[in-house]
Amino acid sequence: MIYELFQRQEISSALRLIDRAESVAVLTHMSPDGDAMGSSLAMARYLSLLGKEPVAVLVPNAYPSFLEWLPGATEVLQADRQADECATIIREADLLVCLDFNSPKRIGKLGDQLIGAKGHKLVIDHHTGPDIEADCVLSYPTATSTCELVFRFICQSGNFKLIDNPMAECIYTGLMTDTGNFSYNSNHADLYSIVSELLRLGVNKDVIYDRVFNTYSPERLRLVGFCLYHKMKLFKRDKRWRLGLITLSSQELRRFNFQSGDAEGIVNMPMQIADVYYSVLMREDVDKIKISFRSQGDHPVNEFAAKYFNGGGHKNAAGGEFYGTLDGAVKLFEQKMGELFE
Ligand code: 5GP
Ligand code: MN
Repeated sequence: MIYELFQRQEISSALRLIDRAESVAVLTHMSPDGDAMGSSLAMARYLSLLGKEPVAVLVPNAYPSFLEWLPGATEVLQADRQADECATIIREADLLVCLDFNSPKRIGKLGDQLIGAKGHKLVIDHHTGPDIEADCVLSYPTATSTCELVFRFICQSGNFKLIDNPMAECIYTGLMTDTGNFSYNSNHADLYSIVSELLRLGVNKDVIYDRVFNTYSPERLRLVGFCLYHKMKLFKRDKRWRLGLITLSSQELRRFNFQSGDAEGIVNMPMQIADVYYSVLMREDVDKIKISFRSQGDHPVNEFAAKYFNGGGHKNAAGGEFYGTLDGAVKLFEQKMGELFE
């Protein structure tokens, strides 16, 4: 039995918002990942099945090509390409459903439009410190993924029977990607009860794994080799390797024909070394340095990301940005990283 996570009044307040709405805009975070896309597409499909019309999914920028197969992905609107269309949808929607992000800052230019929108707002998310003014906020940072929350939400709304195979595939994808294929934050028995239900709905987990994790270009695989051989710097504490830092300049990224999604997973690799429990990847972006932080166990990185790198996230997986040069970001990091060991 899957226990009831949401309080009854949370469900009824969310259902009231859904009942009253006709048009719905589903929004998710910048550089959408498997959980962002999976939860948004599953939710959008669910709302369509409930008779909501029109239901649009909006993303701030492109999602990686290994998620193109997700049912409904090709209809997703991308704000950096279809700005006017997205603005109109946000302005006119009766209901705005915000999934897998905790602050308007995480959706780029759509943030101000969301704040100004007249429609009701429903947030379902698993990041700490929700900071979106909304009519109903279902924030559960202990959940593995927003996909888990969407599954539970549909079930607790009494609509498990509406979950069909395409929805199940979307939900499975987010569970899988946000737990690194069930290798971290994945020790909850309920998670496998949910997976079991999804398998019964015809999800082929091995096929989904292959579609998501085995779709890289040769250049991407060579980039991994380059990172590990040439670009990984290791730091010791108490005579053991504890932290790995990988940096990539835009010139290096060009050399490997870097595409969105290619950095996925690289940041976790230094933690495969015994005793290493912190790992950082910094890469040069158009106008900033994009930084990913990962850690294991009781070694939080989100506060550090927020304090020094304009970021945040989860305890063991956070991100941030640095407005300056790559060398500047490295220098600041090396100056402050001692705090991670305090
Ligand atoms: P990634 O390193 O995969 O880009 O991000 C890992 C997690 O860190 C994301 O799920 C998100 O919660 C958080 N995150 C990434 N980038 C940022 C950022 O720029 N600002 C904030 N607040 N959180 C971020
Ligand atoms: Mn997520």
